[in-house]
Amino acid sequence: MARIAIVTGGTRGIGEAISLALKAQGCTVVANYAGNEEKAKAFTAETGIRAYRWDVGDHQACIAGCAQVAEEVGPIDIVVNNAGITRDGVLHRMSFEDWNEVMRINLGGCFNMVKATFPAMRERGWGRVVNIGSINGQAGQYGQVNYAAAKSGIHGFTKALAQEGAKYGVTVNAIAPGYIDTDMVAAVPQPVLDKIIAKIPVGRLGHADEIARGVAFLCSENAGFVTGSTLSMNGGQHMY
Ligand code: NDP
Repeated sequence: MARIAIVTGGTRGIGEAISLALKAQGCTVVANYAGNEEKAKAFTAETGIRAYRWDVGDHQACIAGCAQVAEEVGPIDIVVNNAGITRDGVLHRMSFEDWNEVMRINLGGCFNMVKATFPAMRERGWGRVVNIGSINGQAGQYGQVNYAAAKSGIHGFTKALAQEGAKYGVTVNAIAPGYIDTDMVAAVPQPVLDKIIAKIPVGRLGHADEIARGVAFLCSENAGFVTGSTLSMNGGQHMY
């Protein structure tokens, strides 16, 4: 039986590449998204992967959405917590709303999704959770106290939950990508980006499918002895 995987923010950017990599690995994949209907429809038409719209920062929406997926597709074996946003600004200009929204979606979304899926994985004795952190959660980044705190929180969340899943065949790992050529990074002004690229030893941005291959490994049968780890995929920018 094919494993059933859900990828949050799975219809574009890194999430789209993850959805495709898991499908190529033989999983039945479902993608979640927040509101970009046009992209989600095109994604489903191109890939045949079903897309479900809900806000991962909304606890009840995650519970209801995952229950709907379980009913329509089958029990969820794999969760990839990829959905994330930025609301950058230096602290003295950052609003409470921008702090809270990033914590609610980037970190709260991980809690909400595993709350909806982890107990059943434990009962079935097999599961995979992969949380997408960030180099900026490891190293910090000017103008991102909200994002860096949420992503850093993901790494602690991963290690704690890994301990709860280990005995039950459920692994929990994180990937900390460096700078990847998606819409999120396209929003960074070019002069800033040039300075960032100059600090990446491999001399370029990463590609979404490079991150997806790491996720696919962590979700595979072969990764059963890997849990509580963070895989840094950043072209050597931060050796952690
Ligand atoms: P994009 O901005 O390209 O895509 C974000 C995806 O997340 C979209 O599918 C979006 O849905 C979805 N999303 C956003 N908010 C919500 C929400 N509340 N509920 C459900 N889905 C949501 O991001 P990237 O592909 O660049 O990033 C993916 C992940 O990787 C993020 O967690 C990001 O923090 C992390 N990351 C990215 C890096 C990079 O360089 N790009 C570096 C390090 C980490 P919709 O399409 O409907 O808007």
